[in-house]
Amino acid sequence: MSTARVLIVDDDVGLLEALPEALLLRMDGVEIDTSDTAADALERIRAVDYDAIVTDIKMPGMDGLALLREIEHARPGTPTLLITGHGEHDLAVQALRGGAYDFVAKPIDRDYFVASLERAIQVRQLDRQVEKQRLALELHARVLEHVDDGVFLVDGEGVVQHWNPAAHAITGLPPEAVLGRPADEALPGWSAVGASVPVASVPGPGSTEARTLPLEIDGRELWLSISGVAFDDGVVYAFRNLTEERALEELKGEFVATVSHELRTPLAAIYGSAQTLLREDIELDESRRASLLRVIAQESERLSRIAGDILLANNLDSGRLHLASTKVDVQQLVAEVVDEMRSLFADREDISLELNMPASLPPVSGDADKLRQVLINLVDNAVKYSPNGGRVEVVLEENESRLRLIVRDEGLGIPHGEQQRIFGKFYRVDPQQSRGVGGTGLGLYICRELVRRMKGRVSVTSSDGKGSIFVVELPLASAPQRQSDPQVGQRA
Ligand code: ADP
Repeated sequence: MSTARVLIVDDDVGLLEALPEALLLRMDGVEIDTSDTAADALERIRAVDYDAIVTDIKMPGMDGLALLREIEHARPGTPTLLITGHGEHDLAVQALRGGAYDFVAKPIDRDYFVASLERAIQVRQLDRQVEKQRLALELHARVLEHVDDGVFLVDGEGVVQHWNPAAHAITGLPPEAVLGRPADEALPGWSAVGASVPVASVPGPGSTEARTLPLEIDGRELWLSISGVAFDDGVVYAFRNLTEERALEELKGEFVATVSHELRTPLAAIYGSAQTLLREDIELDESRRASLLRVIAQESERLSRIAGDILLANNLDSGRLHLASTKVDVQQLVAEVVDEMRSLFADREDISLELNMPASLPPVSGDADKLRQVLINLVDNAVKYSPNGGRVEVVLEENESRLRLIVRDEGLGIPHGEQQRIFGKFYRVDPQQSRGVGGTGLGLYICRELVRRMKGRVSVTSSDGKGSIFVVELPLASAPQRQSDPQVGQRA
């Protein structure tokens, strides 16, 4: 134990000399200061953090009890022993009630006095140690409050003992739902995943590689990069959220699969048609030759459209795409596109493509080519996702200084929960093509981005199985520019 500092306060100067001598003889490692008045003692106490204080209870000016109260105030927790006169039991009791550590009655029993003082010093030094550790812990806890990684502690019994704010933010589980509960119970999926988390026996970088593992919380799958460090009382786990990265990875994988499938289908048709045309062993009549050549032309067109979409999406992402902003005669443009689409889908006799628009409409401001592309995508989708045929209607109308371009179909429809997501890049409602319709998932993403760049918005209304309505709203060329940034809207 380090040197202990003790202050003795007594107006009896004789005792003030005798006591330290007696103590120094019997105790090791103590340093003793003395004061003959309470006022002087208080000054010292304010300057030095004593391990114990011994004071006479009866002194002129300020008595021991008053001094005790001052010590409580200036140095709370400092053990104070009071020296009481013979028979002053009441005072002694009062002193103990007032927070004194112990009392020693005169004449002083030296053995008792030394033992009590030693105990007092020990208590004080232990208190100090505990306080130091508490501060250190508090500091660590405060550091943990501010890290971006989720951190939690599971003790030897498997109970969660610490759960930092990042852990709350990442998982959505508040501390009160987790702390003090078995990890297997508080963290759904932990029982399955916990054992796979790499746990190092020494802390520090490189001691173990984190693993990316899924944890299902409230029906939400989280991918966490997680590792642990074991210590005497349990394991501290640290994790970060890789859900988005993971989703992007999956999306990329899906995209590669979809695109290669989408490329292979027209390629196979082109290859097959060309091979048939090249065969010398069979006689092809004119109409058969023409239909094979049409397949080659149509499928090549499809291939170049896919390549174009990929390039365009990439340009939109990188901000390399610049749109013209001119007055566009939408009526003429829409009529042309509808005509083109009618001949493109000539073989879809189950589809009737209709156009409804007023006799005259003011021009919109935008990029004619890009607007054409938006319309082609929407009409193409309307036909594509109407495998059982039906009416596809294109409507143009003016509404509060905006032009509305509506594409309505009677096809498969879009489940409510998917209606926002279909505008996402690569997003397809049915990537496995169980409904038998192919695509890259880029069409609506491109539509949304192009329309947004023309200061317009695109929205969808649909119910599963009952067809869909896509609405593109664009500012009329005469309309004042809106300040707000129009986004994809959704009306159910
Ligand atoms: P793609 O058609 O290449 O898959 P899109 O971005 O054009 O990509 O469309 C995304 C998804 O939205 C499609 O996979 C489809 O599930 C859904 N979708 C788009 N238009 C319609 C529509 N008119 N009817 C039903 N579903 C549609």
